[in-house]
Amino acid sequence: LYRSHGEDRNNSMGANLANDDTLATLASQINAALKPWTATPLVPGAKVSGAANAVTNPADRRETLGEWTGADSATVEIALKNAVAAQDGWDRLPAASRARILEHAADLLEARMPEYMALCVKEAGKSLSASVAEVREAVDFLRYYALQARKLFGAPEKLPGPTGESNELWLHGRGVFVCISPWNFPLAIYLGQVAAALAAGNSVIAKPAEQTTLIAFAATKLLHEAGVPADVLQFLPGDGATVGAALTKDPRVAGVCFTGSTETAWAINRSLAARNASIAALIAETGGQNALIADSSALPEQLVKDAMASAFDSAGQRCSAARVLFVQSDIADKVVHMLAGAMDELVVGDPALISTDVGPVIDEDARKILADHAARMDKEAKLIKEVKLPPAAAHGSFFAPRAYELTSLSQLTREVFGPVLHVIRYEADKLDEVLAAINATGYGLTLGIHSRIDSTVEKIAKTVKVGNCYVNRNQIGAVVGVQPFGGEGLSGTGPKAGGPHYLLRFASERTLTINT
Ligand code: GLU
Repeated sequence: LYRSHGEDRNNSMGANLANDDTLATLASQINAALKPWTATPLVPGAKVSGAANAVTNPADRRETLGEWTGADSATVEIALKNAVAAQDGWDRLPAASRARILEHAADLLEARMPEYMALCVKEAGKSLSASVAEVREAVDFLRYYALQARKLFGAPEKLPGPTGESNELWLHGRGVFVCISPWNFPLAIYLGQVAAALAAGNSVIAKPAEQTTLIAFAATKLLHEAGVPADVLQFLPGDGATVGAALTKDPRVAGVCFTGSTETAWAINRSLAARNASIAALIAETGGQNALIADSSALPEQLVKDAMASAFDSAGQRCSAARVLFVQSDIADKVVHMLAGAMDELVVGDPALISTDVGPVIDEDARKILADHAARMDKEAKLIKEVKLPPAAAHGSFFAPRAYELTSLSQLTREVFGPVLHVIRYEADKLDEVLAAINATGYGLTLGIHSRIDSTVEKIAKTVKVGNCYVNRNQIGAVVGVQPFGGEGLSGTGPKAGGPHYLLRFASERTLTINT
């Protein structure tokens, strides 16, 4: 019912794709969908003030796409007042009515795929295939959470009790939920967070990543058009230090749903805890130091194809992306050789072209962090391959995909959020040390295993503490309702996005006992 991902999921990059003909049609429709976009806060009763920020295409900074204006502190205050006043009415609506609105939004989004793809390509630098997958995932989230709302919130759960007593468990919205979303899935995660919070009966204040404000604005308008009242879903663009921090320290906020860095999740957690107000729910999905382990029974062709997709799809800007390939030394020379060859085939360039595998990174700050990491790796590790950038890359925020060979995981001190794969060889009798080192990072998001030996797969899968483990395939592109997504430890709090328990964390449980 909710799955828009078809059977055409995997191409050579392993991403969720449409076939080339569909992509070609969509590519031409994207150009027709381009227009100057403008985003402002969407807060009933507030005035827009302040300077506008220009938005440029990360693949070519000479192209201006539009502009957005952030929320000031007066707007934040009005938004909080509106949200508090609106929540009860929204929560009292039958869950099926809320679900119908989300399903209507899903229909509208599907019908307007080229416009939303155009925004993903132009504002976020996503490739055409990644943009198709992004819109489909957003549609999936809307439909899946609508389905879950009907199932969980539609009627109370009857509980046992003595004769003469009725017991029921009801689910309600918690109150005002703040959704803080990232730029790497600017449509899917934005809409996923917001749809979940709305489905559960909360009023929502959404604060998207600054880099992808236009996409989030368009998604908010879509939900309003589908029937979400303007005071039930408000849009507060701006920077984390002013808008985000003002929201998370406010005692009227009942919960925060956040996807982004572990450091920001800590800051939000501290801010919520310091309020001496109701104990707020925090749902955080953060980073990873994701490993892919291949033993000598792995098929090198399949391993390299899956490692390429896992490391370089979306320019490595997925928290699920493989950062470290542990390869058993018996097959390591062959795998490293094939990896270098596969990287020679990677096409880096304009994400609006069908031929492009890897687009730009999100901005200059991201590019500089990656360049600093590469400078350190150039000294401390062995370069396996650096992909060539086309001359036009000079106009955008491009970073050449690279692979390095390291000797130890300890050489990586933090998550490297971009197209860099690190390879480490291990001896067959040292597998336990590899698993211990992965667990010692404290992160636990995704893990890839390539092995044909069932007992090895079982041992690794049971030892490494991660939220999503993938065997003999790539480790990206979790499908809503099929691979519920999210990690543990430094990687997040759970529950998993796109999973059957997600909405519960957005809800309060109330028991009703009646002496009949
Ligand atoms: N759900 C995405 C995937 O499975 C990753 C989400 C993220 O990067 O935050 O690839």
